[in-house]
Amino acid sequence: MVQLKSPREIDAMFAGGQILYATHEAVRAAVRPGVSTLDLDRVAEEFIRSHPGATPSFKGLYGFPGSICASINEEIVHGIPSAKRVLKDGDIISVDIGVFHGGLHTDSARTWPVGTVDAESERLLRVTAESLEAGIAQCVVGNHIGDIGHAIEAVVIKGRLAVVRELVGHGVGFQMHEEPQVPNHGKPKRGMKLVPGLTLAIEPMVNLGTAATRTLSDKWTVVTADGQRSAHFEHTVAITDAGPRVLTRP
Ligand code: MG
Ligand code: MG
Repeated sequence: MVQLKSPREIDAMFAGGQILYATHEAVRAAVRPGVSTLDLDRVAEEFIRSHPGATPSFKGLYGFPGSICASINEEIVHGIPSAKRVLKDGDIISVDIGVFHGGLHTDSARTWPVGTVDAESERLLRVTAESLEAGIAQCVVGNHIGDIGHAIEAVVIKGRLAVVRELVGHGVGFQMHEEPQVPNHGKPKRGMKLVPGLTLAIEPMVNLGTAATRTLSDKWTVVTADGQRSAHFEHTVAITDAGPRVLTRP
């Protein structure tokens, strides 16, 4: 069931989304060689909880142990924070965070370079971020879900990269994952029509190599089948009569 949000509820999500944005910036400041993904998890959890009423949405969600998902290099999403996973110069680290605040969830992911990364990784991060912006630009009343995925995939194809198909964006707000699903590929004018009050997590996951994925034996971490790197950028966006309103950045 699609659950539309009132303007007041969208404002409340924006408030939580600002905490989420600031949490990403706090994590970004902590990303450097020698830091573990558990260290980053602690930075995020402490920062979120320092805001009265705010909690990390992911902690305990479907049994997930962390406050963030931290996925290094060929890991696409859902990496479990660990003291054993230490960042090295040249890595890329995808950080996915959810914040629950004022009774509502927001969801956002960023991929950061660790120290100095190679040109291919830089291109991967740039194209994935651009594909997210192209998807957001389609979040207009009267467009369809398929317009979002089509715009994302067009940027990725032009960038000679591959969109992950097994994992999708989603409605977000009262719950972390709501209807509808928002694939990162699609055909224009297909799928649900976008209406005011719809709040969507738009989240392209993009691979340097092929689109194929597999899940590790920890039953969480999704990696590229070919071992090449992957990036993930995500924002929570409200469809409004005034156009797309990104709730997880200033
Ligand atoms: Mg997310
Ligand atoms: Mg999401």
